[in-house]
Amino acid sequence: MFRTAWTIARFKGVPVRLHVSLLLIVPVIALSVAGRDLPTLLARWGVAPQALRLGPVAFGLLMALALLVAVTLHELGHAVVALRQGARVKGITLMVLGGVTEIEHEDARPGQELAMAFAGPAVNLVLFGLAWAVARAPGLPLDAYVFLQMFGVLNLFLAGFNLIPAFPLDGGRMLRAALRWRMGRAAATQRAATIARVLAIAGGLLGLMHGMPMLSLVALLVFMAAGGEAARVTLGPQLSGLKALQAMSTQLVNVYPHTELAGVARHLLMSGATAAVVRRPGEILGVLLPNDLRGEPPNRLAGSLLEGPPLQVDDTADLADVVEAIQRQRRPAMVFDERNALVGVVTLDLLRRAADLRRLTEGLQAAADRLEGGPVDPR
Ligand SMILES: [Zn+2]
Repeated sequence: MFRTAWTIARFKGVPVRLHVSLLLIVPVIALSVAGRDLPTLLARWGVAPQALRLGPVAFGLLMALALLVAVTLHELGHAVVALRQGARVKGITLMVLGGVTEIEHEDARPGQELAMAFAGPAVNLVLFGLAWAVARAPGLPLDAYVFLQMFGVLNLFLAGFNLIPAFPLDGGRMLRAALRWRMGRAAATQRAATIARVLAIAGGLLGLMHGMPMLSLVALLVFMAAGGEAARVTLGPQLSGLKALQAMSTQLVNVYPHTELAGVARHLLMSGATAAVVRRPGEILGVLLPNDLRGEPPNRLAGSLLEGPPLQVDDTADLADVVEAIQRQRRPAMVFDERNALVGVVTLDLLRRAADLRRLTEGLQAAADRLEGGPVDPR
């Protein structure tokens, strides 16, 4: 399989990954700075390009790397605040339109969510302030002055862009956190997603009218991401009435806590199982999905990936409740029968599949009802 991200560093145990899209965008940004932004800025200041010691391409490359640093610090800002609040940070991925910090803190209070979301743009505002202040130091070489000016503006842009209240941008998350003071989490997410879609449509049209394809592209991505987030929180109602045993996978393999992840991966591969159950004789410790192994060193032990007590549900539990538990704890549910034996595992993917299948069967049912005279049968 083609790898799309590489782990380049670890911060307090959190893997920092570099997405392949960044490798493509760095030269694009470097050339755009060298060919357009830098000459424009110098012309505005009345400075001849020859006055700079660095050539325009070298300067552009430096600026592109500085952008990478600014984006990384932005994401670390999210991660630091999240970790302080006791959240689990699964990883940071740096990609073309900024970064993504995967935070698992579904039961965060609105104030905590607000702080976590604001931490990223706050870092950029601080960097802007620092660059602005240092640029005014006396006796600064011209190259450093120009670099700091551009770096400052860049951070101001990053802060401003991320503060747009369009889910899933940071501003959208802050908006949802604020809405949660007045309504439930699901309702707040719906409202924030609706606002994001409206803003995305406006942004997309603006981009088309003014010939700014990047803006239209970003708007499209925001539109799709907002829909995805809204769909995630509405899974519950679509599944109510179904039981855990109707969505679970019974294809499991057993591994020991001291099994290396390479061994876990091989067990999963050879058996075609959905999940690996980590157990000691007489005790079930938790469950690992293929996704959990991604990006981890192959010699890490299975037991070390488990955190907290495993999530357990009865096979007759209503799937709406199971969805909630899985989304809140961000881990798959182990399903036990009435004799307290492990019979299967329910994952978010399996729940989505169950919701899709149910929609289809309801479509079939409606069609059958129409053929038989419909649900308004006068008898
Ligand atoms: Zn952010």
